[in-house]
This record gives sequence, structure tokens and C-alpha cells, in this order.
Amino acid sequence: MRGIFLCLGLCTVAAVADARPPNVIVIMADDLGWGDLSCHGATAVQTPHIDRLAREGRRFTSGYCSASTCTPTRYSFLTGEYAFRKPGTGIAPPNAAAIIPPGTPTFASVLHDAGYATAVVGKWHLGLGERGRGPDWNGSLAPGPLEIGFDHCFLLPTTNDRVPPVFVEDHHVKDLDAADPLWVGDTKPSADHPTGIEQRSRLTMDWSKGHHDTIHNGIGRIGFFTGGSRARFRDQDLADAWVRESVRWIEAHSQEPFFLFLPSHDIHVPRVPHERFQGSTGMGPRGDCIVQLDWTVGQITAALDRLKRTDDTLVVFCSDNGPVLDDGYRDGAAERLGSHKPAGPFRGGKYSVFEGGTRTPFIARWPGRIAPGTSDEIVCTIDLAQSVARIVGAEVPKAAFPDSVDVSAALLGTGAGRRSLLQQDNGSGRFGWREGTWKLVRQPPPKRPPAGDAAPLHDALYDLAVDPGEVTDVSARFPDVAARLAAELDQVTGRGAAAPPPAVSPPSTTLPKAAGPVRKTVTSPRA
Ligand code: CA
Repeated sequence: MRGIFLCLGLCTVAAVADARPPNVIVIMADDLGWGDLSCHGATAVQTPHIDRLAREGRRFTSGYCSASTCTPTRYSFLTGEYAFRKPGTGIAPPNAAAIIPPGTPTFASVLHDAGYATAVVGKWHLGLGERGRGPDWNGSLAPGPLEIGFDHCFLLPTTNDRVPPVFVEDHHVKDLDAADPLWVGDTKPSADHPTGIEQRSRLTMDWSKGHHDTIHNGIGRIGFFTGGSRARFRDQDLADAWVRESVRWIEAHSQEPFFLFLPSHDIHVPRVPHERFQGSTGMGPRGDCIVQLDWTVGQITAALDRLKRTDDTLVVFCSDNGPVLDDGYRDGAAERLGSHKPAGPFRGGKYSVFEGGTRTPFIARWPGRIAPGTSDEIVCTIDLAQSVARIVGAEVPKAAFPDSVDVSAALLGTGAGRRSLLQQDNGSGRFGWREGTWKLVRQPPPKRPPAGDAAPLHDALYDLAVDPGEVTDVSARFPDVAARLAAELDQVTGRGAAAPPPAVSPPSTTLPKAAGPVRKTVTSPRA
């Protein structure tokens, strides 16, 4: 142990005297919907390993991610700041520079400074390299995770429907041959370069939209690359790589407090599970990737069991945004869906500010400390930074994690979660604002004119208690509620001058008192 830990004071669930703070593992699925788990009622696919976490831990029916696309949720998860406040946090292109500046206090840096070994293994998609220059694929890929609190990283640098299809280990492309340099760009490098347009008939997975630049492994991607032949991976081997590298790292650090962030690529497109999972469901690659994701979770929990670290490890399972069927490839996701409901009872999915976009699987397990069960408390991935710091007694720098609410009591099952929650999309200015069971959805009116960027946004109000599918706009019936929620949303997005309302109910917990979230007055992206 490299640091000195504060008193835990966590004796509400079990009177366990344990000087060692818990290890922390966050497994973040990709594009996994609320309804995609058998513990949420799915029958077309079985997820026994994730279900085990739910059975042994706390499953949140109102668990959220903070945005309905990859990059903004990941930004907020690490920084505790709503992504809409930070320009450039939309879906990152292949040559994006590091989005989180070096030295920014993050979930990882706070745990690192408290003495934790820290690593991220999986999909990054938060940019690498200096601002204005971007990634130096053949040199040092700094700054990146190692400059914001991680000791170690093993990454898919962008996302797998984008180039390049290589692993990054710490500051370098893994297995790169200097004699075969890697080039990545956004324009076709030569007339004979193989793309999904000219060689469409030879693709093993056809594209439906956009994914027709450089072909790799029979699949067109977004963006172009050449070289790096020895470093390229097979899509089918991604999950095995995450498990291999994660387990290896856990084994190496099992005798000290550790924090592992494991953002799996499953079930993002292109959905190419390992051959042993292909055909394991009747839903095609999308269903098979859910099985592969569940296997991944099972391998991590099995490693904890084997190392006898299960009882002192807090495991959180979540998703980075809601589900999508056709996300640019023709993989049969819609055609073979059957009666399966990826978003469960909720409306919308990826890219949306309806509930289906951000209300996603959220499970926390810590045997002996978290009482098993189901919770309706509102918790969000953006809250994990503040909440886990509180649970392990790590010090959060002043003004860090400005939008991350301490929901540790809800995670532990001893108190309340959030009272209200902002939901955003990829940064278009659409927002959802949930308060209790009310939900305000701010987006363009249904018949917005084509050139209507300057047109006023439309606020609709839904009562989630009776209308979880957000079908009936009741703003005309409850104008006072709609006005109150709109004013609260305005305050949080910076249009109002006053401080926002408290975002969490008074805690009923024995946790030590910690500083509340510090909020900033910001300029709305819609202003
Ligand atoms: Ca995603």
C-alpha cells in the first residue's frame, strides 16, 4: 500500500473491521441497453455472470450514464463534469488529441493519489496526444491515460468502427514495426487504396452508412490508415485481449488496493464476436456480443474469486449509452431482434435524451458492504468519481468533479441517490432533466423546419411514474411542473444566474461528511 487512507466509517451494512480500502473495478459496456440483460427480463439472451453481480449486489432500476454516446459519457465518468460544458467532447475522430488535459483531477488520479494502483484496459475514445497535434502513432502517444492518473493502459485507442485497429500499451502502439510505420488520416491516401466503396462486394460485413473507408478484416471503417501490419488485431480477439490483460494486471496488483477501469468494446459496432460465441443466440452478432460481454464479466469475477479478492472488491457494471440496432453496418440486428426489447420499457436509445438513451444497466457489488437487492434510487456514471472517493476515503481536490454527486449511500443501500439528473446527447443541445418521477425533454419541436437551427427548442413533460415510455406530453396539464423543471434545467445549463437546486436528497447514512459538489456557472451551448 503506497498511501495513507482515511477512516472508512462504513459499518452500516456489516460490522467488518478491515483496514484495507476496497479494490474498485468498473466494467463499462458499450451501447448496452437496459433491456439487454436477463436480470432485466431478457429471454432471447442469457447473461448469467452479470446476473450474478446483480444477485450478489445492488441493481439500480434508475441507473444512468450521463450521455447517450461514447465519448461524452467517458469524459464525464473520469472528470465528474458534464460533457456539454466542455466543447470537443462529442464522438472523437480517429486522430483526436487527448480531450482531458494532463493534470486534470480524475477518478483515476484521485484513487492514484490515495495509494491505488490504477489501470484502464479496453476502449479509450478520449483522444491521445497533444492538442493541435493529435496522436503520434509511431512515437510517444502522450498525453493520454497515464497523464491523468492511470499507471498503466492497454487500449483500443478510438472505437472499433474507426481506425486504426491496433492496441496501445502505455505510450506506444503495441507490436509496431518501425520499418512499417502507421499512418492515419481522413483522406484517401492513394487511388488504389482499398475502401468499402470500391470493394464493397468483398466485404464480410456490409456497411449501411458511413463505414466505408479503409477495409480491415473484411470490414470498412471510418477513417483511413496504412502500415502497422504487424500491430493490427482481429476484431474477434478484442474480448480475449481485455480479459487477458485485465487478469494479468489484477494478479500483479492483487496485494495492494487497485482500481481497474475496463471499458469493453462489446456491444458496439462492428459486432464481431470470437468464433466460439458466434451463433450462441438467435439474434445474430448483436446478441452473440452480449454473450461475449457476459463471458468477459465472468472471467473478471472468476479471477477475483481465484485470488480471494471478491470480498474486498467493489465491482460496478454499467454502460456508456443506450442501445442501437443499425449503427452503420448491416449485421441483422434489427431483422433478427424478434420480441427482444434492447431498451426495455423505455423510449429511444443511443443518441437520444429519452430514457432509453441513458437509463442503462447499473449494478454495484461489494460483498458484506452492499446489501443485495434492487434499488429505485437515481444514480449515474458521472457520480462514481465522487462516490467512490467518498467510500474509500480518498481526498478530492477542491473544485474537482463539479457535477459528480456523492451517491455513496445509495450505492451502499443506506440512503438516497440523486433528486434530479441531467441527460445529454452527443452535444447537440438536447437535454433531458429528471426530477423525481418527472422528466422534461428539451429538443426541437416535432415539425422543426429544416433550416431551424435557430428555432426555439421544445420542452415536453412526462410522468415516468405512469408513463415510463415517455409517450404522453403532459406539459399543458402540469404547466407549473414543466416551468419548474425548465427553470432548473436552465440553471444547470447556465442560462440562469442563480445556483442550481440541490441535486441530491439529504443523506440518511453514517458515512463521514464530505464536501458537496462544487458547481460552476457556465454558458449554455445553446446560448
Ligand atoms: Ca457507446
